[in-house]
Order: sequence, then structure tokens, then C-alpha cells
Amino acid sequence: MIYNGDIIDGVPVITKLDVSHLERGKIYRFMFKSVEMNIGQSWYVPVMVAVGKMPGKRLLLNTGIHGDELNGIKVIQDIFSTLDPNQLAGVVIGTLQASPNSLMHTSRYWYMTTDGSDYADMNRLFPGKVTGNTAERHAYKLWNDLWHENVDMVIDLHTQSTDTVYSFFMYADLSIPEVKSMALQFPADHIYDDKDASGTVEGTFDSVGIPAITLELGSPRIFEPEYIARAIEGIYNLMLDKQMITDYKGRKATDFGTIIGNKLSSIRAEVGGYAEVLVKIGASVKIGEEIAIQKNPFGDLIKRYEAPNEGVVVSIGTGATREAGGLLVRLLSK
Ligand SMILES: [Zn+2]
Repeated sequence: MIYNGDIIDGVPVITKLDVSHLERGKIYRFMFKSVEMNIGQSWYVPVMVAVGKMPGKRLLLNTGIHGDELNGIKVIQDIFSTLDPNQLAGVVIGTLQASPNSLMHTSRYWYMTTDGSDYADMNRLFPGKVTGNTAERHAYKLWNDLWHENVDMVIDLHTQSTDTVYSFFMYADLSIPEVKSMALQFPADHIYDDKDASGTVEGTFDSVGIPAITLELGSPRIFEPEYIARAIEGIYNLMLDKQMITDYKGRKATDFGTIIGNKLSSIRAEVGGYAEVLVKIGASVKIGEEIAIQKNPFGDLIKRYEAPNEGVVVSIGTGATREAGGLLVRLLSK
């Protein structure tokens, strides 16, 4: 543990977390000091750590990598308000605002003022760069000084982006047995069996042998009680399965009828205009079925979209205006 001696709003500031040096049977709050802004002040990440009375697995719950995705923060807040460290074996770490810059802007991106401004998707930058730009350095500090040596399994909590919505959707590489056993603890609607190596939190942890899954909980910018409750159910199921707690009964993937697929098809707008998506989340569509249309400002039909294959609708665009490249419908299939 490295404390720099500062206190922010009563919470001690750290520059390095080492959970092996924390006292058992306690819940800690820290402010993790990360990179500096252009004005010379620092960004801080609020962190909670529940250190169980008994030894056991160390679980990371991360959220706020994308700043317009909020359901995960309520999941972590509610987990920590119900966890009893005296009944816990192992450690639970909650990173509540992993990208404070992005959250402040309610944006998917980390904004930088460098040379007229730049921005980065934090979930493409891991494990970061020690001498990179501010976002890359922030990723490096999260990875090296907060996460990597402190955790045995990881749940990264997201939602869909602004103007789009997911079901209770999950990215998980089911070819990794430990990842599969984690994934099936959740009463998710849909699981995409992914092979992710694009610098995401999930893919980067998987690549170093620490099993990770990404939960995509519904809609951006709001709290959705049903998805929040189901995510908490899965997290407690997982903690029971890993002997971190001794008693819990929640619905799992098999009870819930979770649909698993290994193919995602994203139907995106090919022109700009007003979009009408004709299918709902969870619907099964057939190949060739009309799934969305677009109209010009006068209301004339300018584009029809058909399903390129059969599948179940896991995500739709909710923004009425869509320009080329904007998501209309995402299908999961086998
Ligand atoms: Zn996200």
C-alpha cells in the first residue's frame, strides 16, 4: 500500500493498492490518485475494498470505464452496502468511477486538451502505456497500481452506449473454462462467446490468465432496477460458487434460459436520417425480415433494412436520428 498522506472528503488517498497489507474483516474506502489534468490537478478514482475475515478468492468489480454507462455503479454500491466482511472469505474490490474524466462528461470517451483536443476509448487501451497520452497513462496506473496484482477474477460492468440499448447481455470467452463457470452464474438474457483482444479490460485480464467477463446492463445514463438486481444476483451466485460466502440462492443462466451465441451481426445505418427500428429486444427474427427503416426530413422512405441472418435481437438503436454507421439492430446467433 502506498498512501501519499492526503485525505479527500475524509477518504485517504492512495497511489498503490496492495490488498495483502489490509486488515481482515474490514471494508475500506480509498481515493486512488491517477494522472494529472492540463491544469495540474489530478484525477481520482473512488475505490472500495472489502477484506474478508477468511482468506479466499479476490474479485474485482469495475465500472465507469465508459462515462455514459451507469447501472454498474449502483450494482457495486448495493453489493458493498450488503457485504459483511466478517462473513466473507477473500476480497472484493469495487472501482466505482474507473474513468472519472468520461463520467464528468457523461461520455463514452476520455477527453484530452492536448493540441486542440483529443479523445480516447478507455476500453481499448489496456494494459496502458507508462509514457503514453493521459488516457494511456491512466490505463497503465489502473492496471499496474490498482488491479493486476490484487485480483483473481474480474467483472467489468457496462451498458450500451448513448442512443442504443442492450438486453442483459454479456461478453465472455467461453473457451476458457474459468470464464465459462463465471458467466453461467448470471441470470443474463444473452451471452456472446467472444474472442476479445482489443485492449478491453476483459480481454486484457483473460490474456494474462485472470478470468474476466463484461456485463452490458441495458441502457446508458439511467439506473434500471431489474438489471441491477439481476447483476447482483449473479455476483452473489459467483461468490457462493467460489466459496467466498456460505449461503445464497439466486437464479443462474440455466434457470433463466439464457441464450448463448457465437456470432454477432450489427446492422448499421447506411445513410443519415430518421430511423424507425421495427423489432424489440429479445425478438427472434428470420433472415430477410424487415427490421428497420429510415426516412428523410419530409418523411419519405429512403432506406429499408433486412435481417442478414436469423437471430435474436440483443441491442437496438433508440436515437430517432441515425447517421451512417449508427447501430440500428444487433443480432446474436450460433
Ligand atoms: Zn461500455
